[in-house]
Amino acid sequence: MPKTPETSTVSALLDLATRRLRGAGVPSARLDARVLLGHAMRVNPASLLPGSTRVVEASQAAEYAGLIDRRLLRTPVSHLTGSREFYGRPFHVTPDVLDPRADSECVVEMALACLPADRASRILDLGTGTGCLLLTLLAERVLASGTGIDVSDAALAVARGNATALGLADRAAFQVGNWLDGITGQFDLVISNPPYIPAAEIPLLQPEVRDHEPRLALVGGDDGLDPYRHICPELGARLAPDGVAVFEFGMGQARQVAAIAQASGLVSVQTVRDLGGIERGITLKSAVPA
Ligand code: GLN
Repeated sequence: MPKTPETSTVSALLDLATRRLRGAGVPSARLDARVLLGHAMRVNPASLLPGSTRVVEASQAAEYAGLIDRRLLRTPVSHLTGSREFYGRPFHVTPDVLDPRADSECVVEMALACLPADRASRILDLGTGTGCLLLTLLAERVLASGTGIDVSDAALAVARGNATALGLADRAAFQVGNWLDGITGQFDLVISNPPYIPAAEIPLLQPEVRDHEPRLALVGGDDGLDPYRHICPELGARLAPDGVAVFEFGMGQARQVAAIAQASGLVSVQTVRDLGGIERGITLKSAVPA
């Protein structure tokens, strides 16, 4: 039998890729090397043990080398694998949508606290992107239904695909739109993770975000607060009696978002911190419920 070159074992490929990624300053080099090898081999990355002498097929090793080359250009791992896990479920991700972040899971928790499991709540998600907020809520609240709005048709296509893949398409509608413009009816929950990064801070972001994620989903005007200014004045009319709005916002923006809401006849019920301890979400309701 021909001797297998040791360079094609799982162990050797992982070591080489990790060295290349680390050398280029890629954060979480070893984890990324493993996740991408799992993707190339179509196996669960957790099954790839560091010292494994398992031989990787030549075509898969070549695919892996290509993935590592793209990761060296700081392409997000989710763009390479096409998927990101959010709140325990897989979401298809493309460069047309914001990559779901673990930070946003605290916003989901906040929203779930406002959605009784035994009620048929109506949910509106503004700037739905992958649909990760709306679809997670629908998965967690089986009587709920909702609509996801996005200004990007390409994003809506991703969200619709995710709804179908998660078996939620019968309770999720998607439509193109600009925040609450043209929306009628009332909702028990309006949720949004709008773009909230001040324009001048974009150059300071990590390259994965700065160079690969959609600007439309990141930049919220000069101070990052434009979307809240656009949404809040129209929000009261869209909230059902006892309805709430849950917004994600950026670091240090809690006070300003609450002030914008207050100027629109809304009051802050509470804020929540993300896993990093940063204030990240706010629950609002009408100051004078309908
Ligand atoms: N949380 C994202 C980041 O800091 C930004 C997402 C957003 O603007 N909503 O990269």
